[in-house]
Amino acid sequence: MLRAYTPAHIVFPLPEGHRFPLYKYAGVRDRLLGKLPILDAELIPWELAATVHDVAYLNRWRYGEMSRAEEREYGLPWSVQVVDRARGAAGGTLAAMQDALTSGWGINLAGGTHHAFRNKAEGFCLLNDVAICSHLALREGVVKRILVLDLDVHQGNGTASMLSGYPEVFTLSIHGERNYPFRKEKSTLDIGLPDGVTDLEYVQVLETQVKPALEAFKPDLVFYLAGVDVLSNDRFGRFSLSLQGVEQRDRWVFTWCFGAGVPVVSVMAGGYNKNPEMTVLAAAQTIEVGLNLK
Ligand SMILES: [Zn+2]
Repeated sequence: MLRAYTPAHIVFPLPEGHRFPLYKYAGVRDRLLGKLPILDAELIPWELAATVHDVAYLNRWRYGEMSRAEEREYGLPWSVQVVDRARGAAGGTLAAMQDALTSGWGINLAGGTHHAFRNKAEGFCLLNDVAICSHLALREGVVKRILVLDLDVHQGNGTASMLSGYPEVFTLSIHGERNYPFRKEKSTLDIGLPDGVTDLEYVQVLETQVKPALEAFKPDLVFYLAGVDVLSNDRFGRFSLSLQGVEQRDRWVFTWCFGAGVPVVSVMAGGYNKNPEMTVLAAAQTIEVGLNLK
């Protein structure tokens, strides 16, 4: 049975005008209510996070002992709730992975925290949910070949770094070449695109570069980071995709995964539109597109 997970029940106060789009988690959940069951995500166990993250790093965040510089690089003021929310986002991906492996599609209405490194938080990312879950799935032997399809507008630098030693994992990132992170890590396949990419150009890249990679690698599990910061008018994106273009992108991905019978875990990743409603609309649309194809 299809269902989704969300950490939207874990909230925390943010300073007025703060750039973190906390609104989008509840917004997407509320928009999808009635379309599928939506469950509160459980907090990922610290021990599981410690299978890929540095334990001293985790403990600093667990007990609020990180430095001001670390806190600044993460981008959110520390609180128990902020850390719990990060654990809930990763817990949602964990539950969604279990769903994907049984029903073909697992849905987390958060996660895709791809800027988290083994021992460093960055860009609102504390725990690398996809790295934690990939490690677990491989260790348990439930899958042999994982593809991380990172279509957030920013490079999945943390994921690329954390999974670089895993030959069973293919990390694929399409991102703005001139956008943050300015020092890129090396994914298995990096597709850096210029500013202002349009719907048509984006879909062409999927057809000509992503499709051959998917077909050659033959994954038995896909993590899909469906960041909607590829939309035009995003505060931190530089692409020019329309809502319809994002719909085409999502349809392309789900059609490929469902058609090939490859379980897919969709996670939300970024979205910071200057019009907050657009972010909510586009992120909810990703799930609606999948529901229409399932
Ligand atoms: Zn992003």
